[in-house]
Parts: sequence; C-alpha cells; structure tokens
Amino acid sequence: MTPNPSPALAPILPGTNRQSATPQISLVVPLFNEAEVIDAFFAALIPALEETRCPFTVLCVDDGSQDDTWARIVQHRERDGRIEGLRLARNFGKEAALTAGIDAAEGQVVVFVDADLQEPPQLICRFIERWREGFDMVYGARRSRNSDSALHRLAVRGFYRLFNWLSERPIPANAGDFRLLDRRLVDALRQMPERGRFMKGIFAWPGFTSVAVPFDRPQRAAGKSKFNAMRLFAFAFEGLFAFSIKPLRVASLAGLLISLTALGLGVLLIVRTLIFGNDVPGWTSLAVIVLVLGGIQLIALGLIGEYIGRILIETKGRPLYIVAENTQASVPSDPLVKADGGSTG
Ligand code: UDP
Ligand code: MG
Repeated sequence: MTPNPSPALAPILPGTNRQSATPQISLVVPLFNEAEVIDAFFAALIPALEETRCPFTVLCVDDGSQDDTWARIVQHRERDGRIEGLRLARNFGKEAALTAGIDAAEGQVVVFVDADLQEPPQLICRFIERWREGFDMVYGARRSRNSDSALHRLAVRGFYRLFNWLSERPIPANAGDFRLLDRRLVDALRQMPERGRFMKGIFAWPGFTSVAVPFDRPQRAAGKSKFNAMRLFAFAFEGLFAFSIKPLRVASLAGLLISLTALGLGVLLIVRTLIFGNDVPGWTSLAVIVLVLGGIQLIALGLIGEYIGRILIETKGRPLYIVAENTQASVPSDPLVKADGGSTG
C-alpha cells in the first residue's frame, strides 16, 4: 500500500497566518448544458463572493455543452472580468471538468461549486472562516437526504459502508464535490494523474486536515440533473475498483474456502464410496455444485476483468480532457493542453 505522504496535523495550525488572511479565491464551476440556470447562478454567486472580501476569479469549465452555455459564459465575462471560461472540446464528465479546474486554478484557495444552485454560494464565507481556523479542506455535507427516494438512500448508505471498508482512506458520507481546498492540497491533487477520477476518493487521499460544514441541499434552480441512475451506478463502481484491490482478495479468499470445502467433501465421498459402493445417486447435488462453482468463477473473472480494463485505460495515458477555448487572454489558446498535471503523465 502506498503510505499516506502527509503527517497527521493538528486541526488548528498556529503560525499559518491565516486568521486575518484574505486569500485569493479560485472558484471552479463545471457546467454541462446549464444555459437555463447560469444567469440565476451568477446573480447569487457574485454577491456571495464579494461578501468574503477576498479577491476572486470564477473559472467556468464548460464541459462540452450543446446549448448556449458557452455563449452565456462569454457574455458574463464581458460584463465582469473576474469571470473566466474554459471550454472543453466535448463532454468529458464532471470529474474531468473539475480536474481541468484544478489544473488551471491559481488561487490560494480553490472552491468547487455546481452551477445549479444546489450548493448555496452563501456558504463560501463559512468555508473561508473554517480555512482561516487552519483547515486545509472544508467540505459541504448534506444534513439530510430526505429529498431522495428510500431506495436511493439505501443504495448510498450501502455504498459508503462498502467503500470505507474497502478503501485505505475513508471518505465522509453525504459530501459531494462542494468544497474548499487549500493550495497545498491542490498541489497534491495535481500529482494524481489517474484517469479513473472518483473525486471523493481523490480529495481524501492526500490527507491534511478537513472539516464538514453541514447544509441543506435545495432542489435544482432550473434545468435537469445530468446524473441518472446508470451513471451513478457506474460512478460507484469506478470508486470501488479504482480505490481498492480488496475485491480481488475477497475472491481469492472465497476460492480458498471453496477449495477447502471441496477437498473435505471429496475425501468424504471417496470414503463413502469405498465403504458403501457406488449406486450413482446425487445428480442434483452434482449439478448444484457445478453451477455454483461456475458462477463463482465467472464472478471472479469479471472482477479481474474490471481491474484489467482499468489497467488498459491507465496505460494508454490519454489526456483527461481537451481544451477547445479559453477566455483568458494571458493564456495561449492551446487546443491540446495536457491533462495530468503531474510529472508521471
Ligand atoms: N456537470 C458537468 N459535466 C457532466 C455532468 C454534470 O460539468 O457531464 C456539471 C453540471 O452542469 C452541474 C454539476 O456538474 O454544474 C452537477 O451536475 P448535476 O446538477 O446534474 O448533478 P446532481 O446535482 O443531480 O447530482
Ligand atoms: Mg445538481
């Protein structure tokens, strides 16, 4: 296992000079077909950021929208120079959009927020306060999931249990991507070039100190959710397989147990045949054993396949995203901006 590179730190870090700091905030907003909500979003966001009294930039990462999102971002930028835009060449997924933000953000703190106002920008002030207390990561944690269906809640609870059992670094339950990261955490994340981007796990891996800020998650202000059940399921799988090889161990252990049982049963059957002779009974039990073993073998093969598929994706080493346009005049509009942000790329 890779050791955690950071030593355990006390939650309050005297001498960090953060108490009265006004850090440069880089806000990162992933947007995919959010034209309907973007005006309301900026109307709520900008006053909330001004309230922090910190200098800020808002980096809008347009994740291959097919509606007017990009045009709106450009309009807002013309109105307010603190707004910047990065347009990806196609829809790479929210995780890739956040990674593009991590690679581009230059602030002392980086804050991720969704465009649909489900993550209240007013909380950013509170995030900064907690950062001033010395926490390197401040994340929004949903107070309740009452707006989700019972089945969804059950699946989510099961997922967090399973993940935290499998993974060497636990992740807090009910926390999404709504969070503030200190620069040193951002620099650590830039050294994580993996293509399987389960962001909750990636945020937790480097360590440092973190604290939750509870919040009530409202309904989407406008537009539709981009995550259906299938996508959430694929996302959960990604998290489980990208962050742990324990399933392989469980498969080996199951194989060992079954082999031992089979050995005992074999000895028993041989002895019984020697004593009582063979009257060819036991077709049912034979069929059941063959089917069960066949099933377990296929599951184990599937598990191995999940890992091999991920090895293939990682070894190809493709960029996580391709930038098509960048509103920042100072940055040359290079359509092939690298993706890994690390040295191992
Ligand atoms: N998003 C994105 N790329 C995608 C899907 C979503 O950048 O492929 C953005 C989306 O525009 C929004 C945020 O990610 O700002 C959260 O998405 P959504 O609200 O659809 O997810 P939910 O809140 O339903 O989980
Ligand atoms: Mg949402």
